[in-house]
Amino acid sequence: MKSVVAVAILASSIALAAAQPSRRAVSLVVVGRTVITEDASHTMLSPGAVAINGTDIVEVGSPATISAKYQAAQTIEAPDQIVLPGLINTHTHAPMVMYRGLADDLALLDWLQKYIFPAEAKTVSPELVRVGTRLAALEMIESGTTTYCDMYYFEEEIARVTVEAGLRGVLGETIIQFPVADAKTPADALARAERFIKEFKDNGLVVPAVAPHALYTNDTATLKASAELARKYGVPMVIHFAETEDEVKIASDQYHLTPTAYLDSIGVLGPNTIGAHGVWVTDADIAILKRDGVGVAHNPESNMKLASGAAPVTKYLAAGVKLGLGTDGAASNNDLDMFEAMRQASFLAKLATHDPTAVKAQDALDMATIGGARVLGMEKRIGSLEAGKRADLILVSMSAARQTPMYDPVSHLVYVTRGDDVRTTIVDGRILMKDRQVRTLNRATVIADANQLAAKVRAAIAPAR
Ligand SMILES: [Zn+2]
Repeated sequence: MKSVVAVAILASSIALAAAQPSRRAVSLVVVGRTVITEDASHTMLSPGAVAINGTDIVEVGSPATISAKYQAAQTIEAPDQIVLPGLINTHTHAPMVMYRGLADDLALLDWLQKYIFPAEAKTVSPELVRVGTRLAALEMIESGTTTYCDMYYFEEEIARVTVEAGLRGVLGETIIQFPVADAKTPADALARAERFIKEFKDNGLVVPAVAPHALYTNDTATLKASAELARKYGVPMVIHFAETEDEVKIASDQYHLTPTAYLDSIGVLGPNTIGAHGVWVTDADIAILKRDGVGVAHNPESNMKLASGAAPVTKYLAAGVKLGLGTDGAASNNDLDMFEAMRQASFLAKLATHDPTAVKAQDALDMATIGGARVLGMEKRIGSLEAGKRADLILVSMSAARQTPMYDPVSHLVYVTRGDDVRTTIVDGRILMKDRQVRTLNRATVIADANQLAAKVRAAIAPAR
């Protein structure tokens, strides 16, 4: 009797297997109302599905195709949501969320020299960096950023929190000429950066980098040494450049060159350079950036808030310069919402060129995804939803009043969506947030710790205000 049952079960499972001969086991399948792939032909599937196994995307296709081919351990069904590549923030200073709203309505050099550098001198510590980065990571996960490029101090603390939160990061240890919290001299900072690179160079989520702050905060020797260190280990170099007219004047007075031409003349620019801002560039500078393969991180909100200017985004796009979007630090924005960055990139370009066709919604979305991946030198791994790439994706709700009706998903993502509309965030195939419940960080603790530390920041800067 027993063997008859066993034979019957065996026969039925063989029949099942025959009906679905090649159903491959995968860890996760995500099904959405629309899947925006951001591949080279801008493929969109409505509805669509993404099969993920472990850290990688296995296939993107129609829900019917995916369910016929794959047996998922877990499935996320989101018939009212859009699935797209996780957003890539190509320029920020994560722990500066601790200085959010501390000093507003100032020009860059005033803001830096009178408020931010003094506040940092009194308050930057491994603890502030840790607490601040947790807060920033929470904000990024909740607003759909899956990869970010950072420049700050105690970058090893930032790297540890990034891994703990499950985010991907290109993280640059700052090199600056004057004494700062984690280094007394540029030589100290370079030694620190080298130790940092060695510690994290084989990490699956973190790409360590060298981050000379800017040409006006480093001398030529330090800039060259920074570039040499980055080349020695084959890691990115992150730098602010051509951000303001003041910087153009400094470069002109000291070196008789534009900021871009000066950095090129000392041999620090290359395909591993991630240059933030690039607002004040000439046509010749743009040609240099294209030739050297420099990636430019455009920060429209920071540039507007500090009245730095409008980067020539349409010229960069026409020249084929690698171009991504950034929020910059939260002290000059004042948040890390990449949906806002997309919207403002589009609006600012239209205003600056008096051309409403400048930086279309699709251009802005490209900059926040695959464009950002190119800037970070990671376009083979992230930036689009394609088989073989890492599974970094987000699910965005489209059911709010302000999102109704929806004729064009890309238009909605850029022109009406907010970070708060992100429901689910996945990095490396791991679900960091599901239906707005963050799994890798304790939300209440992160916010309480930040508020507690803010009291210390307030006390430290009180005499200066
Ligand atoms: Zn910056």
